[in-house]
Amino acid sequence: MNITIVAGARPNFIKIAPIIKAIEAAHTAGNQINYRLVHTGQHYDKNLSDTFFEELNIPQPHANLEVKSGSQAIQTAAIMVAFEKELEQHPCDLVLVVGDVNSTMACAIVAKKMHIKVAHVEAGIRSGDMEMPEEINRIVTDSITDYFFTTSTTAGENLLKYGADKNHIHFVGNVMIDTLLGNLDRIKKPDFWEAFRLEKDNYVILTLHRPSNVDEEQSLVKLLQGIDNMCEGKKVIFPIHPRTKAILGEQNLNLKNILFTEPQGYLNFMYLIKNAFAVITDSGGISEETTVLKIPCFTMRTTTERPETQTIGTNTLVGVKLENLASAYTSFLKNGPRDSGIPELWDGRASVRIVEILLRK
Ligand code: UDP
Repeated sequence: MNITIVAGARPNFIKIAPIIKAIEAAHTAGNQINYRLVHTGQHYDKNLSDTFFEELNIPQPHANLEVKSGSQAIQTAAIMVAFEKELEQHPCDLVLVVGDVNSTMACAIVAKKMHIKVAHVEAGIRSGDMEMPEEINRIVTDSITDYFFTTSTTAGENLLKYGADKNHIHFVGNVMIDTLLGNLDRIKKPDFWEAFRLEKDNYVILTLHRPSNVDEEQSLVKLLQGIDNMCEGKKVIFPIHPRTKAILGEQNLNLKNILFTEPQGYLNFMYLIKNAFAVITDSGGISEETTVLKIPCFTMRTTTERPETQTIGTNTLVGVKLENLASAYTSFLKNGPRDSGIPELWDGRASVRIVEILLRK
């Protein structure tokens, strides 16, 4: 079986790393399974792309479509045009896409129209929020997917509601957690650890990049000022996403506790998360990682497509208003972290299960 694996953005790189390792192991064990890795070029900054390839030992892509930035339509269209050429020149039996970025949807459409089977890793998750471009990417991708690999039983139920055949849904666990558990003994202190006088539990990690939090400059500034006050007594490390940085520019916000850094590589970032007092974020992936590492997480969104991080894990959905974040944070300061567990099958073996299933096809 020849599989083309697609990756375009930071969270994709983290997800494909263990899948590639599992395919390579199956190949070495004598199975007929090969892959070709296509980087669409959706994320191209060194610290959102190359660093992840280096740190997670992901082989160099066989092709880079170099689509770069653009509006939703421009980027999606550019990926489709380039990926169609790629598949014409390098036909395959299956296209494997991960997550919910534009590359995921664009490449799934191209493959399906060329009568190539599509596997979607992290299928079936739904926020119900059609203002998120990711939600549209999820729905469109899942409507043409042949093999659904899911992280939870809820995701499987969502797929059944949308009419998927239950024989095509495979609850395998979470590849993001495969990467986390597989690299925990490699995580490392960032260079600024001593200079910022960081110690276990004396800082909060902040990440923000979703349009609902960062697109309106004045609201973003107010939010940062509010978080700065709320976290008095702790430092707040803010690895700033290029999208957020572009909106804030170089202005001096006069913040006492928030310390800006570049986006972190995976190994530094996980070290920071594992030793943090708490995390404030609007990321989906981070709410999964904090759940497994048992770090309290406050998610600045009104919906989540990963409900198990709330019901089982450490995540609290606080909405996008500062006062709601402040009240949840105050209650955490008063009552301490709540009991939490780890969702079923988030055990580091999802990628191996995926490859086993593909080999049976
Ligand atoms: N991440 C990282 N360095 C950072 C911020 C994030 O390595 O400075 C990792 C982290 O593992 C996270 C993943 O990137 O789970 C994806 O984060 P992002 O917020 O970009 O994507 P989302 O989860 O919102 O799709």
